[in-house]
Amino acid sequence: MKTVDSYNFSGKKALIRVDYNVPLNEELEITDDTRIRATIPTIQKVLADGGRVILMSHLGRPKNGPEDKFSLKHLLPALQAHLGVPISFSNDCVGETAIAAANDLKDGEVLLLENLRFHPEETKGDEIFAGQLASLGDVYVNDAFGTAHRAHASTAIIAQHFPNDKVFGYVMANEIKNIEKVLHESEAPFVAIIGGAKVSSKISIIHNLLDRIDKLIIGGGMAYTFIKAMGGEVGNSLVEDDCLDMARDIILSTQEKDVELYLPVDTLIANEFSNDVVFKTCPVDEIPANWMGLDIGPNTVITYISAIEQCKTILWNGPMGVFEMSNFANGTHAIATAVASATERGAYSLVGGGDSVAAVNQLGFTSKVSYVSTGGGALLEYMEGKTLPGISAILN
Ligand code: AMP
Repeated sequence: MKTVDSYNFSGKKALIRVDYNVPLNEELEITDDTRIRATIPTIQKVLADGGRVILMSHLGRPKNGPEDKFSLKHLLPALQAHLGVPISFSNDCVGETAIAAANDLKDGEVLLLENLRFHPEETKGDEIFAGQLASLGDVYVNDAFGTAHRAHASTAIIAQHFPNDKVFGYVMANEIKNIEKVLHESEAPFVAIIGGAKVSSKISIIHNLLDRIDKLIIGGGMAYTFIKAMGGEVGNSLVEDDCLDMARDIILSTQEKDVELYLPVDTLIANEFSNDVVFKTCPVDEIPANWMGLDIGPNTVITYISAIEQCKTILWNGPMGVFEMSNFANGTHAIATAVASATERGAYSLVGGGDSVAAVNQLGFTSKVSYVSTGGGALLEYMEGKTLPGISAILN
């Protein structure tokens, strides 16, 4: 893999695509700077070589050109604090302002460009726009795993301008290394724990994993589609009726491929989607009408914990229940604890994809698993076996 380690940036302008799509509060202060911190080693490598850094990113989803709340200038104080070197800012990511700012850069300095998505050409993957961005630098570094599944101008199209000068940053290299480890170098027994709201968004991953895993644990809202597909009564629980056949298909495939399938046996139910209502436990296939399952039940927790305990490789995507409500966070918490103790005993655990990351953060388990992926959609598409444009643009 071509990474920044194999490149000497001395005297070069490195155009680094980062993913600084960070959450901001109403005062436009960053509430979680994980994504900024993650890119610091890549930037420091370029600076240590005696290079110049030009950072480009998107922030939010601006619709019609520039909008102050999506300006990357709000990130300057945080970047400055982490890097401790002069950082200049260009009010536009292309055009005369950007060209002048890039040309003014000296070795050891950093320039941050304004939000790429202030130009609609970015998400359209426009070739001319990609060329304008490319003209600012001598070498292209992609360190934005979160957008690697998009063929945007700055994530993929731009790379064709740097046939011999394109490399992965450390964030990208780490993500690829860790996901590849799970997909291709896993130690048995390998368990995939898949939860979250929708079966439809997880079907392809599950199919792609069935040849590699020994156990499949299903939880969260998507479990009720499986229970209904097997003839169970699920009341008002979340169900995707158009996925019942797909659920039956997965059940059959697990039998054919000798994968142990774990579905909930009991569930916590409530008669409203709220934390402030009465709730109780019942068998997962006997949920009364007007009640809904919002977490896995205590017997399910016991079975799932013992299934996870003996595993050597663990992939976890999606919470076991509505963990955002304290009464329905127990299942997710118990699974996080089991994954953490298996990790402590030597298992390799990768957690990733949107809400599972939020869940491990909220429950304080981030440092107790082997790897937390920064990618949402990008991780899911990688796990589905798709080629990510941001990765292939560097490799090919
Ligand atoms: P996903 O993005 O598909 O991983 O789904 C994550 C969301 O699923 C979280 O916001 C959870 O609150 C939600 N979720 C988990 N279990 C349930 C459930 N039993 N009923 C409804 N939503 C759920």
